[in-house]
Amino acid sequence: MPLSLEEIKKTHPDLYKAFSSLPDGQRHLDHLLEIDGYWEMLEKPVPEVIIPSSGLPADITPNSEYDLIYAGGTLSLLHAGVMACTYRRKVLILDRHEPAKSTRDWNISRNELDNLVRTGLFTESEIDSTIVRRYKAGWVEFFKPDGSQKRLMMQNVLDCAVDADRLLGIAKEKILATPGCTVLSGMTFLCCYRFPDYVIVKAEDREGRVFYYKTRVLVDVMGILSPIAMQLNQGIPQTHVCPTVGTIASGFENVDYEQGEILVSTSPAEMSSRKGRQLIWEGFPGSGTQYITYLFFYDEVDSPNDKSLLALFDTYFRILGEYKKPGRDFRIHRPVFGIIPAYFHDGFNRTREIADDRIILFGDAASLGSPLTFCGFGSMVRNLPRLTADLDRAMAEDALSKENLEKISAYEPNVASMANLMKYMCYNSATDEPNFVNDLMNEVMIVLDSLPSRYRQAMFRDEMKFDELMAVMVRVAWRYPRVVRATFEKLGIPGSLGFLKNLAGWAFSPSR
Ligand SMILES: Cc1cc2nc3c(=O)[nH]c(=O)nc-3n(C[C@H](O)[C@H](O)[C@H](O)COP(=O)(O)OP(=O)(O)OC[C@H]3O[C@@H](n4cnc5c(N)ncnc54)[C@H](O)[C@@H]3O)c2cc1C
Repeated sequence: MPLSLEEIKKTHPDLYKAFSSLPDGQRHLDHLLEIDGYWEMLEKPVPEVIIPSSGLPADITPNSEYDLIYAGGTLSLLHAGVMACTYRRKVLILDRHEPAKSTRDWNISRNELDNLVRTGLFTESEIDSTIVRRYKAGWVEFFKPDGSQKRLMMQNVLDCAVDADRLLGIAKEKILATPGCTVLSGMTFLCCYRFPDYVIVKAEDREGRVFYYKTRVLVDVMGILSPIAMQLNQGIPQTHVCPTVGTIASGFENVDYEQGEILVSTSPAEMSSRKGRQLIWEGFPGSGTQYITYLFFYDEVDSPNDKSLLALFDTYFRILGEYKKPGRDFRIHRPVFGIIPAYFHDGFNRTREIADDRIILFGDAASLGSPLTFCGFGSMVRNLPRLTADLDRAMAEDALSKENLEKISAYEPNVASMANLMKYMCYNSATDEPNFVNDLMNEVMIVLDSLPSRYRQAMFRDEMKFDELMAVMVRVAWRYPRVVRATFEKLGIPGSLGFLKNLAGWAFSPSR
């Protein structure tokens, strides 16, 4: 439901004050409320947006025709860019807002960005031009009341701050320079009609005018709000979430521009929400004197907690000073926010639906990333070469059935197993001591600190091998036996069995 800034003055005073100081504060609030619409979507009947061909009105002639239509204009720019520029496919990208303008900024390490060069879409120097800051070392630290927390230091992990809009903007320019390719802003995906050989996409512009486009394959990259993901997964497109808010700001007192703070907690779980939540901070130097801070927590999608970005952002502005002190020149350049999705696959392999005949899902719509460290951007960068090459091959062979398309996925057994660890970070006041999440994570940091540095790098870059995770888990259980009981309390019997199935699937996979 749209709300004006004035209307949140009493209910969310700290957010009101901060957003009122921004020239486009109302626009940011509108966008934030749009993403918070996710919670209402979950309550509504499952949308029917994939419609059989018989549902298309008889008098419809498509406005134009493409090889690929991408609904959603963020990570799609990377995939579509490769399909257009490297594989010469005719693509259309449509977004209800401005394509290539994100509500986030991304961190990654330089080596990982080489994947983008490998696809042929970017040159080395173009990639370097999107890195606004590279810091020397990063660390992770979880609160201990007696000050005994272990600060785990690491190098070459998430150490490059990437200007997301610049990266996506370069891809957009290249797509637009490719004959036959189009990028449309202010165009909302409404539904699609599926024929045996093609799909007709129905979309609506800002004035309410309706357009029809024909495509061989529809790519759903509409993020957490994807109605296609909602339909294909029977109204449960995610099992867990990580609501995240923050700012790109300048004028903090005493921030270190040489170090990144990858995960930091400064207090035990807070109980204002019904089940309680363990708040976690991140802090990264950005461009010039800018500094990026995020506040987030992990939760089950159906927990009774208030998981709205609206409430979390009010908390962020209220307690920011406990993490980084805004000085007299403090200025917010841009708020960043989103709901990071996660999915627990209850099986030996991927159990989430990520494709249908002539329809494929990527990015947050597919929800195959791990919200623990890296998320959808990292997952897309890691997998982009094969996600594009495999789709081009499927198109060349006209192998575009659900069975064929679902093989083209960013599913990684190690990431699926690692994502289970997030469940231990979902605080529950019914079973956990207030400092439980911090105590457990502190033990993990002590164990990682005792192992060679490749273990911590692999863990925080989603590159862990099976035996490496086993080595960490056994050591943590030895040091902190409480974790065994917590496994049954937090995961339950079905969740524990599911975790074992994930691990078994990983153990027998080629990527172990
Ligand atoms: C603050 C923050 C920081 C992050 N940092 C990192 C990081 O450092 N590393 C990392 O790997 N990940 C990070 N992430 C996660 C990452 O941003 C997401 O995984 C990524 O943005 C997903 O991209 P996407 O294109 O799949 O979805 P989105 O970014 O959600 O984009 C979806 C697009 O679809 C459009 N859309 C939605 N519905 C429709 C419709 N009906 N019609 C047309 N268009 C529609 C939206 O307008 C939007 O542009 C971060 C997330 C947040 C919130």
